[in-house]
Amino acid sequence: MKVLKTSWLVYMIAVAFLLCVFPIRAQETPPEQPPQQPAETTPPSPPQNVVLFSWDGLDRMVVWELLAKQKLPNLAALIREGSLQEIDVVLHVTVTKPGHTTMLTGLDPETTGVFSNSDYRPIPEGYTIFERVQKHFGGKEAIRTFMVTAKIAHVGGRGPDEIGESTKKDKQKSKVAPGADDSPDVEAQGEPFFLTRKNLDVFDSDQREATETGPLCLKYLTQFKEPRFLAFLHFSDPDHSGHKHGRDSQEYRDAAVACDVWLGKVVEWLKQEKLYDKTIIYVTTDHGFDEHASSHSNAPDSWLATNDKDVTHGGMLADVPATILARFGLSVDKLEPGLVGVPLTGPAETAAAESGKGKLSAEEAKTKALEQIKANDKDGDGKLSAEELPSEFARSFSRIDADGDGFVSEDELSKALVRQSKRKRK
Ligand SMILES: [Zn+2]
Repeated sequence: MKVLKTSWLVYMIAVAFLLCVFPIRAQETPPEQPPQQPAETTPPSPPQNVVLFSWDGLDRMVVWELLAKQKLPNLAALIREGSLQEIDVVLHVTVTKPGHTTMLTGLDPETTGVFSNSDYRPIPEGYTIFERVQKHFGGKEAIRTFMVTAKIAHVGGRGPDEIGESTKKDKQKSKVAPGADDSPDVEAQGEPFFLTRKNLDVFDSDQREATETGPLCLKYLTQFKEPRFLAFLHFSDPDHSGHKHGRDSQEYRDAAVACDVWLGKVVEWLKQEKLYDKTIIYVTTDHGFDEHASSHSNAPDSWLATNDKDVTHGGMLADVPATILARFGLSVDKLEPGLVGVPLTGPAETAAAESGKGKLSAEEAKTKALEQIKANDKDGDGKLSAEELPSEFARSFSRIDADGDGFVSEDELSKALVRQSKRKRK
C-alpha cells in the first residue's frame, strides 16, 4: 500500500510538471502567457544585466526528456518564469565554431567569416554582442562584458602565435580530452574571438569541466557586477560526453545535470546579490547531437530556456543574440553590418510574417533546385557532386549533403535553398 501511495504521488508530480512544461513547447500555436509574477520578480525593461549560457552540444530532445524526468530543476525554474523555445541551427554546419559565432553575433557566416571548425577567421572587431552593447551604453566602463569558455580552440581567441604553443600544451594536459571535433587547427589568422578578446573585461578560455568552469563564472560575476554586465558562460561537458559516450548514454545526461547545477549556483548568487530581478538569463546550445550517435554532423535541434517574459516564440540561433541586443534597447534593424537574426520578443505572427519575407515555398525551392541540377549536372546522374555544386554553396557542401553520400540530391538542394532564402529574409 505504501508503495502504491508513493508511486501515485510521483505520478501526480510528474503530471503536474508535464502540464507546466509542455504547453510552452507547442510551436504551432502561440505559446501561452506564463502566469504574471509578483512585481518585484519582473525584470525591468531594459534589464540591468544579461547572462547567456551555452551548454555545448546538448540536443533538444534530451533536454525535453530530462525536463520531463525533473532532472534539470534549475532550468525548469527558469522556464516557469519565462519560456522554453525551439531554436534551429540553419546557417551553417552544426558544429561549435560557427555555432558560437552565430550565437554571439546574430550575423551569417558570409559576414563573420566563420563557416566551420576548419574554415574560419577572427570575427571582425565590433561585430559581437559584447562590442555592440559597449557602444550602445557608452563604452567598456558602462557595461562589463566577459566570456568564460570551456573549449580552448572552438570557442577560442588565440592568435596565430599562440595556437602552436598551446596545442603542444593541450596534448600534455590529460584532464579533459578534446572532443572528436575539438582538435585545434594550426592556421594563420587566429581563432574566432581573437579580435573580440581584447575588447572584453575578461576572456578566459581553456579545456575544462563544469566543476572548474562554474567557480570561474562566479569569480568574474563577483568581480564585474557593477555597473551592469553581459556575461557569456560556456560549459562544454555535454559535447565532450556526447562524443565519448554517445547521445543515448547516461554520461551525456549527467553532463547536462552538471550544467544545471551551475545554472542553479549562478541564480543563487544573483539572488544573494539582489541582482536576480534585474537580470535576464538565456540558456541555449550551439547544436544538438545525431540520433543514436556520438557525432553532430546534421544536428540542428537547439533550444532556448529563459526567464525573459518577453520571449514569445522560437526561431533560429541568430535570433538569440538579436533578442539580447533588443532587450538591452538597441535598434537591431539599424545595426551595421545588419543582423540576420530578429528578436524573439513580440507577437509571434509578426515574426512569422517577417521570417516569411522573401522565403521560398517548398514548391518554389523544388523548381529552383531542379533548374540548378539541370544546369550544373555535367555527368547527368541527376545529382550534384562537390565539384558540380554552384560556387555559392561550395563552402556548405557537407551541410547540404545531409545524408553524407557525397552528392547533393534535389531534395537536399531544395532544403538548402529554403534555408538560404530564410537567411536573406532581411
Ligand atoms: Zn562536438
